Amino acid sequence: MKREYESVIGLEVHVQLKTTSKMFCSCSTDFNAPPNSNTCPVCLGLPGALPVLNEGVLKGAIRVGLALNCSINLYSTFDRKNYFYPDLPRGYQISQYGQPLCISGCLEISPDCRVGIRRIHLEDDAGRLVHGAGDELFIDYNRAGMPLIEIVTEPHISTPQEARLFLEELKAILEYLQVSDCNMEEGSLRCDANISLRLSKTEALGEKVELKNMNSFRAIERALEFEINRQAELLKEGKVIYQETRSWDEDLKRTKLMRRKEEAQDYRYFPEPDLPPLKMTQELVDDLKKSLPELPRERRERFIKEFKLPDYDVSILTGDRDLADFFEEAAQRTSPKEVSNWLMGELLRYLNEENITMKDIPLKPGQLVELIELTERGELSSSMAKDVFKEMCKEGKCPGDVMEEKGLKQISDREHLENIVLEILEKNPGPVEDYKEGKKKALGFLIGQVMKRTQGKANPQIVNELMIERLGREIDN
Ligand code: ADP
Ligand code: ZN
Ligand code: MG
Repeated sequence: MKREYESVIGLEVHVQLKTTSKMFCSCSTDFNAPPNSNTCPVCLGLPGALPVLNEGVLKGAIRVGLALNCSINLYSTFDRKNYFYPDLPRGYQISQYGQPLCISGCLEISPDCRVGIRRIHLEDDAGRLVHGAGDELFIDYNRAGMPLIEIVTEPHISTPQEARLFLEELKAILEYLQVSDCNMEEGSLRCDANISLRLSKTEALGEKVELKNMNSFRAIERALEFEINRQAELLKEGKVIYQETRSWDEDLKRTKLMRRKEEAQDYRYFPEPDLPPLKMTQELVDDLKKSLPELPRERRERFIKEFKLPDYDVSILTGDRDLADFFEEAAQRTSPKEVSNWLMGELLRYLNEENITMKDIPLKPGQLVELIELTERGELSSSMAKDVFKEMCKEGKCPGDVMEEKGLKQISDREHLENIVLEILEKNPGPVEDYKEGKKKALGFLIGQVMKRTQGKANPQIVNELMIERLGREIDN
């Protein structure tokens, strides 16, 4: 009998919250500061220094919990997670173990997939090791004490594609909440993935493997795919899967063993004596709930209703809050579908090419509306409009200015074009004869001559009309 396996996946996501100061001290969180300049006795773990919780961190974490449909515990506690590593000056992270801030949430990623959120807890970050040339190793404690939340899902995800969908939706929510930069390259969003296989249509979970060091959503998807194949091969050969931690190698596109369960860290959690239990009022939680913005899913549903766009357009446009804001402002003033086409086509292509985001370009919604109107009035051909648009994205200029600078105005004046058409007909008696004899191809040639003569600025539709009209008369004569 052929054995079929199905994969079971659970994710642990670390998110760095965007606050101006660190989690338990007043040091700055500036990512670009010189190494070790954002440090103090508290985040360096000097004896006698006492931590004080940053209120902004607490509020940010609760907002995330509410957006992920969690119950917020009005009473939660801090624990020490002990281990020794050069980047951890205190010898422990301050975390939450037994009584975390948020529990029992869920995130719906499609009508038939709802992923449970087991818990969200607060945790402070360790420092950063920087490898120099040769054996040199540097430690930067700027990151020590940065505010993190850890979001732990239930093992409710079935495929690598679903894992990616979950992370994309989560990232969109965090961006809409404006609680994190969610920059995987700078480490403000990090994800470990747990995966096991079991025989299809069985309940019991298999032994899980934890995957680390994936630096993009694509890498997470690939690492999971690789692991499914690896584990399935082993199981088919009758071998056992060990509970272990494996690391993704981006160059070799494979996972490799880091440590087995027996070598797993024993963190010896115990209550943090320097911080009292966290007690909150229901009122605070209610107020934070009221302050939640419209979230991606709500916005998607509203866009579909309000702007009558295809689901596909809407899912792309709402995936990024800045893009959605831009779209909405422009779409209120002109054809939504036209705006959507420009954003999903030219704009996203430009952002991709330059490897930048909406925040990096000076373009304003009103400027795109103007461009669309110029094109609709026939003052710009669609190919010229694309050139103008690119310039607008680069320089933040309005379309009129770009057109003037580049001498790009489309010629739509009928009288003017008619003169040029006549001139071209006169100069090309051969093709005109061809057309009269029924060789329709000659029309394209003649129109091409007009375009050439006007350096591509003639309105092709009008030229086409005029040309057919004129040639028709010649045939009648
Ligand atoms: P650990 O004690 O090893 O940290 P947890 O039970 O805390 O394990 O779970 C950590 C993560 O692993 C969670 O996201 C959870 O959903 C996921 N997970 C747990 N068991 C499995 C399994 N058998 N297969 C896949 N994922 C799992
Ligand atoms: Zn500090
Ligand atoms: Mg765990």
